[in-house]
Amino acid sequence: MSQTEQGAASGRVEILGNHTDYNQGLVLAMGVSFRVNVYGNRRSDEDIRLHARDLSQQWAGSLGNLSPQPQAGWVNYVLGVLHGLKTRGIELGGVELEITSTLPIGSGLSSSAALTVAIQRCLQNLWGFTLPTLEMAKISQEAEHRYAGVKCGLLDPMAILHAKKDRLVLLDFRSLEVQTIPFPKEAIFVVASCGEQHALVDGEYNERRQSCEEAARLLGISSLREIGLHELEKRKSELPALVYRRARHVVGETDRVERAVAYLKKNDLPGFGRLLDESQESSRVNFENSIPALDKLCEASKKSPGHLGARLSGGGFGGSTLHLVEAQQEGRFLESFRKRSPARAGGPREYWVTRPEGNPEPESGSRKF
Ligand code: ADP
Ligand code: MG
Repeated sequence: MSQTEQGAASGRVEILGNHTDYNQGLVLAMGVSFRVNVYGNRRSDEDIRLHARDLSQQWAGSLGNLSPQPQAGWVNYVLGVLHGLKTRGIELGGVELEITSTLPIGSGLSSSAALTVAIQRCLQNLWGFTLPTLEMAKISQEAEHRYAGVKCGLLDPMAILHAKKDRLVLLDFRSLEVQTIPFPKEAIFVVASCGEQHALVDGEYNERRQSCEEAARLLGISSLREIGLHELEKRKSELPALVYRRARHVVGETDRVERAVAYLKKNDLPGFGRLLDESQESSRVNFENSIPALDKLCEASKKSPGHLGARLSGGGFGGSTLHLVEAQQEGRFLESFRKRSPARAGGPREYWVTRPEGNPEPESGSRKF
């Protein structure tokens, strides 16, 4: 058995720039303090042995058959990555992989993208190859599209691959440029799961995407990135009312990301926080991707000491909220927030405190399976 190698990846959270990735806009994101770890050993045959420790599930297969597995959802992320590497001419042998994670699954922190990135890093360490970051992000995206059936953008893997400690990641989905921005030490983030997922989420997503495309078409531009807020206001009468509101949210979000970067450069946390509150209001009124459970968490936040801003994070229609909080008020904020936010059905509300985290350092050495 070869030496054990590790690959790790943090989850990510969207800070501002809601539904902008498929509109070629700007997104501000960061890595979180929870991560997926993948430990691997090379095998001398063609077999694949997988162990998802958190799910207490194992799976055995072969490199010769990488077709998607209808039963075991998590296995598909691994097979998708192996298939993506194979199509890029990277020949691997059999492998044993063990997955463990401190990232909550399905709470909007992108455990799936963290998993596909961590698998790639582990395989790179085992076979000693490297790939450009964008190619790694595409392999993750393809695994989600073709193997898990989730039509996600490049945001999740790109944010995870570029995550840096104490910095926010600014992603431009027109140029695909990435920058990192220092995050002031005087604040923390709280991520809270609202405990609900909208039943009609796929239909809602498609409607939002179509409205954005329709807005661009009616305005005669290639994407909503090609118009500023001022111009959109002037041409409001060219759009049906609903399509205008959808476009207003997306164009407003890219504008808010630009303003957020300016506030962060001045270390103006209250200014930055107000943009999160504005974003939530726009989600509620214009994009209609908030739901009462998310609104309530944001309201509970506003009434709590140390609140600087709060909004839904990610696609919406359920999932999680993100709260910017004064670091010194962490304890008082959490006490008040916990009291004011209604308990989710079936258990206490889940929330996590985090600062921007970087890519975890890989460990290597021997480890028993
Ligand atoms: P998220 O918002 O967390 O990315 P998704 O539904 O996109 O939610 O992805 C969650 C899926 O990713 C899980 O159902 C599982 O298939 C896979 N996954 C995530 N973390 C793990 C883990 N620790 N072990 C095995 N599979 C995992
Ligand atoms: Mg996911």
